[in-house]
Amino acid sequence: MNRKHLLVKLLLTSLPVLLLPAACREKVPESELVINIVPQPAVVAPQEGYFRLGKNTAIAIGSEEPKLREVADYLAGHLSRATGYDLKVREETREKGAKSTIFLSVDPRIGGEEAYVLQSGPGGLTITGGSPKGVFYGVQTLRQLLPADIESPVPVERKNWLVPGVRIEDAPRFSYRGLHLDVGRHFFPVPVIKKYLDLMAYHKINTFHWHLTEDQGWRIEIRKFPKLAEVAAFRNETLVGHGARPPFEYDGQRYGGFYTQDEVREVVAYAASLNIDVMPEIEMPGHAQAALAAYPELGCTGGPYEVVTRWGVFDEVFCAGNEEVFAFLEGVLDEVVELFPYKYVHIGGDECPKTRWEKCPKCQARKRQEGLKDEHELQSYFIQRVEKYLLTKNRSIIGWDEILEGGLAPQATVMSWRGISGGIEAARQRHDVVMTPTTHMYLDYYQFDPDTEPLAIGGFLNLEKVYSFEPVPAELNEEEARHILGVQANVWTEYIKTPEHLEYMVYPRACALAEVAWTTAGQRNWDDFKLRMMLHYDRLRALGVNFCDLEERSMRMGPRTM
Ligand SMILES: [Zn+2]
Repeated sequence: MNRKHLLVKLLLTSLPVLLLPAACREKVPESELVINIVPQPAVVAPQEGYFRLGKNTAIAIGSEEPKLREVADYLAGHLSRATGYDLKVREETREKGAKSTIFLSVDPRIGGEEAYVLQSGPGGLTITGGSPKGVFYGVQTLRQLLPADIESPVPVERKNWLVPGVRIEDAPRFSYRGLHLDVGRHFFPVPVIKKYLDLMAYHKINTFHWHLTEDQGWRIEIRKFPKLAEVAAFRNETLVGHGARPPFEYDGQRYGGFYTQDEVREVVAYAASLNIDVMPEIEMPGHAQAALAAYPELGCTGGPYEVVTRWGVFDEVFCAGNEEVFAFLEGVLDEVVELFPYKYVHIGGDECPKTRWEKCPKCQARKRQEGLKDEHELQSYFIQRVEKYLLTKNRSIIGWDEILEGGLAPQATVMSWRGISGGIEAARQRHDVVMTPTTHMYLDYYQFDPDTEPLAIGGFLNLEKVYSFEPVPAELNEEEARHILGVQANVWTEYIKTPEHLEYMVYPRACALAEVAWTTAGQRNWDDFKLRMMLHYDRLRALGVNFCDLEERSMRMGPRTM
């Protein structure tokens, strides 16, 4: 008996699902009635029997609300693909003929728009959501209650498609559950982004932070400034090896790419169908050298500049004294807010060296005019001015925690990345916070001994450490703690060049992120999660994810690595 079968056996002996009434007792392999969900729901109450998905199963919706219909069509498409059944969606005012029906409905009384109740058994299967979003999350849970084969893109021959009898009541702990992707250092085309979003939805992660601009590449078409796509989206070559280990070698290959506005719209619409908000990031005033390569008049020295070919933090930033810079950024943001309906725009704000500003006559004149005491206050002026502009467009800003330096913009939300202290400080100032500290949430860090791993930026962050993160610091009182909107993991791509490597770095660690973000702290349990992950890997495999297989690694390298 291998470890997995042993595990199934262990799980089953702790569940009453085997105590079926005589009438429906038939030979059903034990392994088909396992309840194993990531992230862990709030309440899981196993019940007698099971629901059988068959070719006559209907998907019924309680109302013709378009968003509910969309979820039902999504479910029907999904289940039809793997089973080969032609499952139909129909409207039904009440639950009739329930036995072979999956009944989806909305009831705002169940608490929270993302909440849901799933009930399955021989009498039928119902998912009731606080809104269609809640129903959507119930559908994600249903996918995990079916055999892993349900994720097959082509029909699978199977005798049974069974859902164990269970009542699940569930709702997320945090409203903000984020996963980030840097497409500036390396560019990932639309199909890769769509798969990234699919896997987020599967784990109930609801915000995609799309890091679109960097020193090494500007990745979004802006019609008013065509040179961003023509010039800023491409670099002459790329560093080979680690960015902190000279002597530097380069590959001599021109590299780049960008998303057209049609592609951006396609991604945003696709994400919306998965109940994922897309938050664009346009970096300022630092990490702007690619933009300066296209429009050198926006830098303090006037250039010339080149799109950066190695990794690090660079001195060339937007000039804070030049009115043209603000006209440029406003022009960019005008198009960005047209493309992205999400209420937040991320304006970066991190890692902005002040060396050019200190010597720039325009920046120094601005400091004098505005009565600013140092370059930190000049950066604060810069961010506040952009915030003011975005507020006129009905958008709020989020920035990295450096935006605290020199004074926070009045309504800014802070992403705490250099540990949690920036988040604590912002919450105490009654500003909203998303926790994303390097120590626990940087998925570009090594998962194992660097000697055995593909090159990464450094650090060490294994699955257990991600899982151990508590987003609400004990130092905060109840009122301050309410400003912690949630948690996010970041994926910087200096050393991540291919979709396969991307998946290897993100999974399974994003599963731990999902549980930190979704499941209440009291219900989180590492030992339990570790066991559930052993079965969850079958699902990741069925989904075609090139995840970092901890089970395989731990057998090869000994228990230390788990
Ligand atoms: Zn300047």
